[in-house]
Amino acid sequence: MSNSLWHIRATPLPARVDRVVVGAGIAGISASIAFESLGLDALVIDGRYPGWGASGRNAGFLMRGAADNYAAAVDDLGREDAKALWTLTENNLTRLRSLGIDRLPHYRAQASCLVAFDAEEAAQLERSARLMAEDGFEVETRQGQGEHADALWRYEPPRIGLVNPHDAVCDPVELLAWLCSMLKRMPIAETTLQRIEQTDAGFAVVTSRGTVMAEQVLICTNAYTASLLPDYARLIQPNRGQMLSLDASGLPAHERLEFAYYANHGSEYFRQLDDSTVIVGGWRRHHEQDERTLENEPTAGVQQGLESFAERVFGRRLPVRHRWAGTMGFTPDHLPIAGPLDASDATSPWICAGFTGHGMSMAHELATQTALAMSGRSELPDLFSATRFADADAGRIAR
Ligand SMILES: Cc1cc2nc3c(=O)[nH]c(=O)nc-3n(C[C@H](O)[C@H](O)[C@H](O)COP(=O)(O)OP(=O)(O)OC[C@H]3O[C@@H](n4cnc5c(N)ncnc54)[C@H](O)[C@@H]3O)c2cc1C
Repeated sequence: MSNSLWHIRATPLPARVDRVVVGAGIAGISASIAFESLGLDALVIDGRYPGWGASGRNAGFLMRGAADNYAAAVDDLGREDAKALWTLTENNLTRLRSLGIDRLPHYRAQASCLVAFDAEEAAQLERSARLMAEDGFEVETRQGQGEHADALWRYEPPRIGLVNPHDAVCDPVELLAWLCSMLKRMPIAETTLQRIEQTDAGFAVVTSRGTVMAEQVLICTNAYTASLLPDYARLIQPNRGQMLSLDASGLPAHERLEFAYYANHGSEYFRQLDDSTVIVGGWRRHHEQDERTLENEPTAGVQQGLESFAERVFGRRLPVRHRWAGTMGFTPDHLPIAGPLDASDATSPWICAGFTGHGMSMAHELATQTALAMSGRSELPDLFSATRFADADAGRIAR
C-alpha cells in the first residue's frame, strides 16, 4: 500500500526510539501504552492503519475465559493454568475499567452466557460452574425459560447457560481509537515492517518507509506473523472469522437478547446492540479448510450458515444489513504466545500474538504484561512461552 507525501510528512519516522511495536491492533497499542507509562519512546508501525486487523472486525465481547469452557480448559491445561488464564481475562477488563472504558459511548457492562444445546456440552458447563465456584470465580447457571425469556430461550432453548455476571461488550473500533488517544509521545506510523537486523547499535527495523533504530522490538502482528517470521507459520495460523448484522427492530421488546451469547463451545456468538441490531458470528467449524486464509472477505457458505443459525435463535428470518470478515491468529493449543523470540535471550525481539478467537478479552492485559516484562519490570508466566511447542526453533527467527 502506498503512502501520500502528506501522510509521510505528518508522521516522519524517527531515527532512533526505545521500542518499535509492529502492529496497531489491541495488542500493539496496549503494549505501547505500557511502554509510555515507563517513560519510553515507543513507535507503533502498522502496514495499514490501527484496527485494520482483527481488532477492528470482531464482535466486541470482553469476556472472562477462553475459546471453550472452564472444564475444557482444566482438562487441557491443568487446574492452575486454567485458573491463571481466567484470571488474566478478568484482569484484562479490570485494567480497561481502571483506564475509564466505561465512559465510552458504546461500552456496556453486560453478562455473557455460554449455552449448550447438547447433553455433552451441558454436562461440561455444569462441571465448569462447579470448578469455577471452587476456584473463586463468581458464576451463575440458568436452566429453562425464565419469566422474561428472550428470543433464544423462547425459540431455541439451550439445555443450560453458564453466566459470567461481570463481563462487558464494546464497539471495538471505538475502544481502539480510545486506546490510541492515550499514546502521547509519538504518532502511529503507517508503514510495513520488512525485516529486523541486529547491529552493534541495536535493532535496525527496516520498513517500507525507511529504517528506525530501536533498542528493542515487539511484534504484535497476530494472524500476519508468518509473513515476517516464517518459522512461526506452524505456531500462528490464519483463520478467518465471519460475521453479519441483522435488523431486529421488529423484534418484540421482551425477546431482546438478555446476554452476550456464546454457543457450541464458542463456535457461534451473538449479541444485540442498543439500537436493536443483532450481530452474529461463527460457523467457521463447518468450513474449516476454506477459512484458513488471510482473505478478509465473507463467503456464501458461512454466511448462509449464520443466517440459518440466527433464524433458529429468533424464530424468524431477520433482514441482513451487513456482512464482514476478519482474520484471527490461531495457535495449536489456542493460547497466545508472548516472550522473546529467542527464549534464551531476553534482548532478542519479542512477540505477543496468537490470540485465537479471544484477543479482545486477553490482549490488553497480556500485551501490557509483555511490555513490562521486556523492560524487566515483571515476569511472564511460562504458560505463554513459545517453548511449550517443543520443536519450535524460535532462536533462528530474527537473527
Ligand atoms: C469476526 C471476529 C470476531 C471476533 N470476536 C471477538 C470477540 O468478541 N472477543 C474477543 O475477545 N476476540 C474476538 N476476536 C478476536 C480478536 O479480534 C483478536 O484476537 C484480536 O483483535 C487480535 O488483536 P491483535 O492486536 O493481536 O491483532 P490485529 O488486530 O489483527 O492487528 C495486527 C496488525 O498488524 C498489522 N501488520 C501485520 N503485518 C505487518 C507488517 N509486516 N508491518 C506492519 N504492520 C503489520 C496489521 O495491519 C494489523 O493492523 C474476533 C475476531 C474476529 C475476526
